[in-house]
Amino acid sequence: MPVYRAPRGTRDLLPDERPVWERLETLARDLARRYGYASMETPLFEQSDVFERGIGASTDVVEKELFRVSPSRGEDTERWALRPEATAGIVRAYVQHGLQTWPQPVRVSLLGPMFRYDRPQAGRFRQFWQWDIEAIGDPGPAVDAEIIELGHRFYREAGLPDVDVLVNSIGDPACRPAYHDAVRAHFAPHADRLAGVERERLATNPLRLLDSKDPDIADLIATAPDIADHLCAACADHFAAVRAHLTVLGVPHRRERGLVRGLDYYTRTAFEYYLPGAEGQQSALGGGGRYDGLVELLGGKPTPGIGFALGLDRVVLALADAGVALPAPAHPAVVVVGADPADTATRLRIATELRAAGLVARADLATRKLGRQLEGAARDGAHLAVIVGDELDLGQVQVRDLPAGTQRLVNLPDLARELTRAHAGHRHGTDAAR
Ligand code: AMP
Repeated sequence: MPVYRAPRGTRDLLPDERPVWERLETLARDLARRYGYASMETPLFEQSDVFERGIGASTDVVEKELFRVSPSRGEDTERWALRPEATAGIVRAYVQHGLQTWPQPVRVSLLGPMFRYDRPQAGRFRQFWQWDIEAIGDPGPAVDAEIIELGHRFYREAGLPDVDVLVNSIGDPACRPAYHDAVRAHFAPHADRLAGVERERLATNPLRLLDSKDPDIADLIATAPDIADHLCAACADHFAAVRAHLTVLGVPHRRERGLVRGLDYYTRTAFEYYLPGAEGQQSALGGGGRYDGLVELLGGKPTPGIGFALGLDRVVLALADAGVALPAPAHPAVVVVGADPADTATRLRIATELRAAGLVARADLATRKLGRQLEGAARDGAHLAVIVGDELDLGQVQVRDLPAGTQRLVNLPDLARELTRAHAGHRHGTDAAR
């Protein structure tokens, strides 16, 4: 038999790993609710054109990393790709469903898997999870700060209080062309030092040279013209206002001149969150920016927008590295055991009734002796055992508090209420002890 494995760059998240993920998902959903960003979903795949236009054909994500999907039969005139990020699909949906007629801005939140055909390594996967936030229909600058602060709060509440917030402005179609020219003029005399792709970018998309990781041109990047000196008055005012709002909100941040998103429909605000002290690209925890040209590019009316994507995989890794106490898998509150090993039906019936009443309960379904059933319940970390025995004929069962070792008789009609009360006290007790 062949040994099957999850595809390279993907992972199974086993039950003992899921609690930390669930905590992050719950935190993201709760923050979205508190900030008024409504949950939405888009398909995991789209027409690849949505990404080619929406992210940009000359980005790594589209050029090299798009997972193209081909159906085995039919509809093969369609070209599809798995989503490598959420913004393009959300903006496609905004245009498709006429969301520009809703009260603006439309604030949405999406959490789910993204797919990039990247080279797998630590913190870099082919299927990874992002929490995405978008506000479409507000030119800012206040909403820019709202979103940057929201991402910062996510990391703080997740247990990473010291994440670096880097911000920049990349101008707009009014002022960026002149900056492109300045960058080209700076690199052009050194074109012989540029690798093939970089030389192409010099022509097509010179800003991308500024976030090149090529150490051979690090000195050229360091001495390149600073976009701050090339912003038009409107962009400079917008950026100053974003920073002033961040200061009012108490978000520590610093300007990073190398932070660029070199595509025409990205405008003005760009930001990233970094893990302090960590090395390399995998220290980028999340990022976002303003895309005032994107809605129009995907067929809508000119509409400003801004959003972020926070990678959850790297947060999980960073929490483990930082030694942050991770939540333990949940224990059952109640396990139903019985003196008659064969009578699994009664145990299962009582557990089912307790579940219907909202309790976390399981029945021991093995036909084994009562002592073994009780050992199993203790091993699971259960709080209470319901013991079905001869008293059942009188409509009663024993309830044992496993950690305390105490036991008492309870009438069946009172059972769910009694267990709920006993367990609520137990939970509060353990929370207070923590
Ligand atoms: P990006 O849209 O490329 O700026 O990605 C936003 C965030 O998603 C990054 O900061 C990472 O945390 C996460 N991310 C992007 N690509 C990957 C990947 N291949 N594996 C894991 N996380 C990723």
